Amino acid sequence: MSNPTIAIVGSGPIGSAYARVLLEQVPNARVVMFEAGPQLTEVPGESVRNIPDAGEKARAREMSQGPQAGAYRESLGIPAGTVTEGMFTARQGTHLLDFGGAGSAHATSFPAAAAATNVGGQGAHWTCATPSPAFSEKIPFIADDEWDALIEDAKQLLHVHSAAFADSKIGEAVRSLLDEEFGAELPDGYGVGTLPVAGDPQADGSVRWAGADVVLGPLIDTDSPLSRQFELRALTLVRRVELDGHRVTGVTVEDLRTGETSFVAADIVVVAADAFRSPQLLWASGVRPKALGHYLTEHPVVISTVALDAEKMGQYATAEDLKAELARRAQNPADPVAAVNRIPFSEPEHPFSVQVMYTETTPFPMEPGTPYAENSWGYVNMGYGMRKHPRYEDAVTFDDNEPDYRGFPNMTIEYALTEREESEIARATERLRRAGKALGVFVAEPRLMPNGSSLHYQGTLRMGETDNGTSVADQWSRVWGYENLLVGGNALIPTATAMNPTLMSVAIAVRGARKIAEELGSTRG
Ligand code: FAD
Repeated sequence: MSNPTIAIVGSGPIGSAYARVLLEQVPNARVVMFEAGPQLTEVPGESVRNIPDAGEKARAREMSQGPQAGAYRESLGIPAGTVTEGMFTARQGTHLLDFGGAGSAHATSFPAAAAATNVGGQGAHWTCATPSPAFSEKIPFIADDEWDALIEDAKQLLHVHSAAFADSKIGEAVRSLLDEEFGAELPDGYGVGTLPVAGDPQADGSVRWAGADVVLGPLIDTDSPLSRQFELRALTLVRRVELDGHRVTGVTVEDLRTGETSFVAADIVVVAADAFRSPQLLWASGVRPKALGHYLTEHPVVISTVALDAEKMGQYATAEDLKAELARRAQNPADPVAAVNRIPFSEPEHPFSVQVMYTETTPFPMEPGTPYAENSWGYVNMGYGMRKHPRYEDAVTFDDNEPDYRGFPNMTIEYALTEREESEIARATERLRRAGKALGVFVAEPRLMPNGSSLHYQGTLRMGETDNGTSVADQWSRVWGYENLLVGGNALIPTATAMNPTLMSVAIAVRGARKIAEELGSTRG
């Protein structure tokens, strides 16, 4: 096909991976990327964590909050800052789907479900943890060799570094204490280690966090010829994917600044608009496979905060080491991060993913005078991420008769943990108690977060090997029965996982994009 046009819905890391791979591999292709939210930073899709000024950073986060951003929220009759009873607050930069106003989704059993609406998507706000899937987390119908190569490609696209902050003596001391407690129980290669993160270590020891900007790479570099084949349209909502029978012909889009609607013809459409809004858009467009929106999974999360014990830490680190750690954190006071450790998922011993982040203050206020309100060695925030085993009945469904705040068929999320999850949560909580004791004293006891808190929503666009009603897309991410309609994102992950999913989803996107490139007549390497 000569001069193919590819329309991409959503500018997060996954839509960006499609744009990059397709433009690098298909000569004369043109990519138009549509993003419902505003551009937050001068460089499109940059992580807001890189913004040094606290006020600017807060403004960028507010702008990403769709219906919960000030003016938008007020137009719905909800004064800014209002939190209605029973309502959870979303993580900064995100907005709840069930926000309690008119046109809000219904998500009583999944109350913390949230999204980000901005150039770069949630990838402008993410923590950048990028572990690789292992054991049964991997997709059974993709061969190991191919999978390993895809993960390497995804790491490059996301600028993943495995040893960020590895020089931190505080991080090392925490690792040593955790290793004393758990090392003997963990399989080789899956012990206590540093957490791989997406970002570029800087000469001063800080990290420039990766967002969709690094994935887009040359596409947003005006010196690169590829930038002339790429167009990003912010504040442009894709209303429908248009079809002629089982072929996609393009998308109908609304310019949110003017309210004008237009049709954009495309040879291929890739929908990468998150795990709730992608299936919603397909539903609204009349693409309704049986599994659409079903098999919803995420990670049940148990979190806690521990005051580090001076004597225990003192076995492995000195006061000077602590000073160096604090100095690094002071470089970005509005978003300090350093010394991130983890214990990865492994089977059968450890079907959990554990993150341990050092912090000099607790994430919640502590009354002066309460025990450990001042703790010279600081604290760690520890979280266990667990599996949710896929079931058809855990689902987002759509109602044609009830429009949401944007006029799409409204969402209802139904979700429940079963005995299987409850038992893994109990095992993980017991381990979290052991970890806490190994490091110091709990100042926040382990607690299970409300459903939806992980922000790692998977399964609603499941990929599968055969079209047997339990998947939405084939193994190259093409919606069954629609060869030029692709889907992307965590929603494609068909397995029960515990690890942060973005790296895996970028790997799946690379595979889908290469297949399309091959069919379009790729000539670039
Ligand atoms: P998104 O990044 O969600 O982007 C989708 C985009 O589509 C959005 O910008 C949205 O506005 C747009 N869109 C939706 N509908 C339409 C439409 N109809 N028309 C046009 N545009 C539309 N993951 C990890 O792996 N590790 C982590 O450490 C981690 N930490 C996180 C921390 C936070 C605070 C948050 C918010 C997320 C975190 N995540 C993490 C999740 C990670 O950000 C997501 O996995 C990733 O961004 C998914 O990429 P995506 O491109 O599929 O979707």
